[in-house]
Amino acid sequence: MTQRLTASPADHPYFDEKYGPRPLFERYAHARMRQLLLRQIATAIGAAAVWYFVGAVAAAFCVGITLLGEGIDALALKFALARSKQERPLPPLLKLTALSAALQSATIGSCVLVLLFGAPTGESVLIALCFLMAATINAGFVMSHHPLAARAKLVILACAIPIYVAHVLSSPAPLDSTFWVHMLEVLLLGYLAYTFVGFGLRSWHKRLLNERQLMEFTAYLEATNRELEAARLEAEASVQAKSTFLATMSHEIRTPLNAISGMGELLQNRDLDPEAGRYVTTIRDASKSLLRIVNDVLDFSRLDAGQLTLEHRPFSPRDALEATKRLMQPLAEEKGLRFSLVLDGSLPAHAVSDETRLKQILMNLTSNAIKFTEEGEVNVHASATENEGGWRLRILVSDSGIGIPQDSLEKVFDPFYQGNNASTRRHGGTGLGLSISRALARRMGGDLQLLPPGASTGTRLELTLQLEKVAQDFTGGETTETLPAALTPMTVLIADDNAINRVLVEQFLKTTPVTVITAEDGRQAVETTLSRQPDVILMDLSMPELDGLDATREIRGLEIRQPYIIALTANAFSSDRDACMAAGMNDFLSKPLSQRDLHRALALTASSLDLRD
Ligand code: ATP
Ligand code: MG
Repeated sequence: MTQRLTASPADHPYFDEKYGPRPLFERYAHARMRQLLLRQIATAIGAAAVWYFVGAVAAAFCVGITLLGEGIDALALKFALARSKQERPLPPLLKLTALSAALQSATIGSCVLVLLFGAPTGESVLIALCFLMAATINAGFVMSHHPLAARAKLVILACAIPIYVAHVLSSPAPLDSTFWVHMLEVLLLGYLAYTFVGFGLRSWHKRLLNERQLMEFTAYLEATNRELEAARLEAEASVQAKSTFLATMSHEIRTPLNAISGMGELLQNRDLDPEAGRYVTTIRDASKSLLRIVNDVLDFSRLDAGQLTLEHRPFSPRDALEATKRLMQPLAEEKGLRFSLVLDGSLPAHAVSDETRLKQILMNLTSNAIKFTEEGEVNVHASATENEGGWRLRILVSDSGIGIPQDSLEKVFDPFYQGNNASTRRHGGTGLGLSISRALARRMGGDLQLLPPGASTGTRLELTLQLEKVAQDFTGGETTETLPAALTPMTVLIADDNAINRVLVEQFLKTTPVTVITAEDGRQAVETTLSRQPDVILMDLSMPELDGLDATREIRGLEIRQPYIIALTANAFSSDRDACMAAGMNDFLSKPLSQRDLHRALALTASSLDLRD
């Protein structure tokens, strides 16, 4: 699924939250109040200068008037700040605090004038001008946060210079060179203040710009994240829908398939005339192929959705390979092909992996080899190398068949790819065999690769798998197929709402000493269990009234001799198996059911019932 990402950096509300007029004003007010005491150091220095150059009374006046200005400004700021926090309209608060700031600057300006008028010596004028410039710089810096206050302060402070000039010009004494020196000082200090404040404001604007860009980018990333998250959820939902669809389809196809192949199996055991026998064989073959296709499509989808769970059980790799040979050799010989299996001495006696999946891959590879070879041989060679985790199993499947054309070497692993040759047309299939095998091999810590054909024609495929070591206390035991033992007398309850399935199981058990009783839904199953106390229950999962899982839970809560419960279902996912075990079932048989599987499961049951008794 592809989706165009459309996150735009248009909305970035944080910027206004941080740099809007109100937050800036509040920061201005906080800073002014915080620095109130610090500013009084300047007041003290100024007062000392006035005292030194003019006198104690003038100094006292300057301290008093400065503190008055600061006090009024601080009160106005405190008041405005409280109002601003209550989200009151901002403009009146800005005006009020601009006024108090102007007043505060006026007090500073008058102190400067006291010094300029009181003792117009070279040093005192320079100190006065320095104070004026310091106050100007201070006022300039608040331009970024409270422009109205800054402008008011600057205008007020700037007035000190014309007032001083007017004062000098109006005095009867003639202008001397010190006046021009002072004017030069005004120009230089003014220029200094201008560049300093300019630089500060430019840095501030640059910071704003950068931060704005950062916020825009953050907003963009957040929007992109939200879209990605939505896309992920959508993808997950569609994977879920696909799995549900597949589970349902598989269930719906397996249920009638169970009846077709089961009834076919029963018919085949009868004395049929040759023609009827052929028809039944065809029905059986067709249902087997259909089941293989259903299983392949299911496996492929589960691998695709990452939902395939592998088993990790001890098994004998030799037995698994021998079992494949037993199944495939007759098919090869039917075509006049030699089938050889060479097991290297390096193979471990037992190892841990998923035996069923290993066999599935082997069946895919050997059935391809037989399918695409008209004469000659099919060889399987297996060896293993010990490594850190256990063993690296290497299986080489080669044939003397038509081979794979150079231009299709990688394509054969693509899902649904089937080369355009007579064999594929003749044998059908879905083209999923190799892609499933490769995906399985990779999930099992290995790979599946085509090797160059070597001297002969034909195909050589190399399968590698990682096998783990068995636990120390593993004694060997039964790891691979056990042949069904003869069944002992027992009572089996078949709980299935589908009449054909009930008949089928009854027929499968007809010739055995098993007593069969039936229930048509989960509720009946619980009641019959109470009244008849069966040894084994074959429990369908989806049934009316009460489903198989709930019925099992109820039965497990009954105070009776507990039966052995085997799930019998067309649901094929391993999550279904887990759910059955969690509900308290003992085993799991999937439909379509074969007589052999049923007998084997019941034989196993019999031995555990014996143990229980
Ligand atoms: P399915 O396995 O689903 O029944 P399939 O055998 O056609 O169908 P794959 O097993 O995936 O599908 O193989 C894909 C294609 O690769 C085959 O159709 C065939 O063209 C080619 N191929 C696979 N194995 C061999 C082989 N041993 N020799 C020649 N061609 C092969
Ligand atoms: Mg195949």
